[in-house]
Amino acid sequence: MGIAQLVQATYIVSGVLFILALQGLSKHETAKRGNALGVLGMAFALFAVIVEIVDGEPSLVTIILMVGAIALGAGVGIIKALKVPMTGMPELVAQLHSFVGLAATLVGFNSYLEHWETGADGAHLVEVFLGIFIGALTFTGSIVAWAKLSEKMSGKPLTLPGRNLLNLAIVIISIGLGYWFVKTASFHEFTVDGLPAFGAEKIALLPLGAMTALALFLGFHLVAAIGGADMPVVVSMLNSYSGWAAAFAGFMLGNNVLIITGALVGSSGAILSMIMCRAMNRSFVSVILGGFGSESGAVAAGGEEEGEMHEVSAEGVAQMLWDAKSVIITPGYGMAVAQAQYPVADMTKRLQDHGVEVRFAIHPVAGRLPGHMNVLLAEARVPYDIVLEMDEINDDFKTTDVVLVIGANDTVNPAAMEPGSPISGMPVLHVWEAANVIVFKRGRGAGYAGVQNPLFFKDNTLMCFGDAKATVQAIVAGLPTA
Ligand code: NDP
Repeated sequence: MGIAQLVQATYIVSGVLFILALQGLSKHETAKRGNALGVLGMAFALFAVIVEIVDGEPSLVTIILMVGAIALGAGVGIIKALKVPMTGMPELVAQLHSFVGLAATLVGFNSYLEHWETGADGAHLVEVFLGIFIGALTFTGSIVAWAKLSEKMSGKPLTLPGRNLLNLAIVIISIGLGYWFVKTASFHEFTVDGLPAFGAEKIALLPLGAMTALALFLGFHLVAAIGGADMPVVVSMLNSYSGWAAAFAGFMLGNNVLIITGALVGSSGAILSMIMCRAMNRSFVSVILGGFGSESGAVAAGGEEEGEMHEVSAEGVAQMLWDAKSVIITPGYGMAVAQAQYPVADMTKRLQDHGVEVRFAIHPVAGRLPGHMNVLLAEARVPYDIVLEMDEINDDFKTTDVVLVIGANDTVNPAAMEPGSPISGMPVLHVWEAANVIVFKRGRGAGYAGVQNPLFFKDNTLMCFGDAKATVQAIVAGLPTA
């Protein structure tokens, strides 16, 4: 087998490993194995790329650049992954998407400049144009997503007048620029020195540069127009865009494994976005078009109080739980912040041993990344069979004695059932239907969407203020021993 065949065969093995990785990641039980298979697939792909480069007898500069890039990428990746807290994962993912977008943009320009004196064929020029367009859009879109997720930018949607027309105009102008670019760059007349007769290669940089500027703006504008509660869909959508950007980079570089990986990420991200849209009762098209058709007047109402809150102590909660027959726990982002999953698992075990039925209700967008709560509960070894999805358990709240809302807010907000709220239409956990609801939070802060929560003022709701971890530990300590 020659080197070229070895490289292609290794690419196929990596592609298969990536598919098996995705399959593994679709279930809790197999997620760790899926992750390991993905790492193995990436190791094979990297090995094949290195073999391919070495086989081309590279210059010393190329070798230094290659080793430097691997060391830098691996170094930054390891440091970031070791340092990031679980609650910072969405921001890290958004940052990584922005790197993919930037890389695709740079590969596009490089790929054009590499061929610009000899002229490239039309198909390659289209790849360059689309690769840069999607790459630039992903780059700025991901930076805005990172800024919103890390609260460096307001979660309130930016609603410029005529914003949908503006987006449409950018797309139409970009199509026109694409035509101009391909027509100019695929010149056929050369001077005696072999250079384009009229400097077409340089003129073509004009539409390419203009489109890049427009795509950078479009990425910013599309994500800036999306409100807090729709951010989960944006994150998975940018994941999809980064996949397509990588696939185009693969076409430009003639690298099969990049095409396969990009297409897998692009399509799985698109499927995840559609699933999240369905779970949140949002239209996929309206979210990808930057909140198209959403009510621009629906702004977050953070501060208004709606009545009186009733408080309870940790000891009081311990007694209520001990006396209950059925308990449902609805965790949210605050459980992740407090890292309360371990005492929550201890409390669950103690109550189960006492004969109380304890189950968990997981909202599809609880926390800050898809599956966030499932990961935390699995980490604390809560059995999978008592962890139920919203649709499986939402009808059971009416027959439940006590519901513990641990650091959840938007996902249990009854305002979503009323028109006129920024979260209207989003399905929520019907916790208020239970006999008693106990909400664990530190203060009177609103949830991620910045919307006031009428649940806190209901007659059957008791507030247990404090850090969720300390509160649950106090409850465990307060449970009777027999
Ligand atoms: P929310 O963000 O709505 O609310 C979290 C609550 O936790 C707050 O009320 C906060 O109140 C409380 N809290 C924070 N820290 C602590 C602590 N240490 N101890 C106790 N309580 C604490 O959470 P949800 O999970 O209900 O909703 C998720 C939101 O995030 C949704 O709007 C969703 O759309 C959005 N989102 C989800 C993503 C995903 O993929 N899952 C991605 C991006 C956004 P206080 O400050 O008073 O303590």
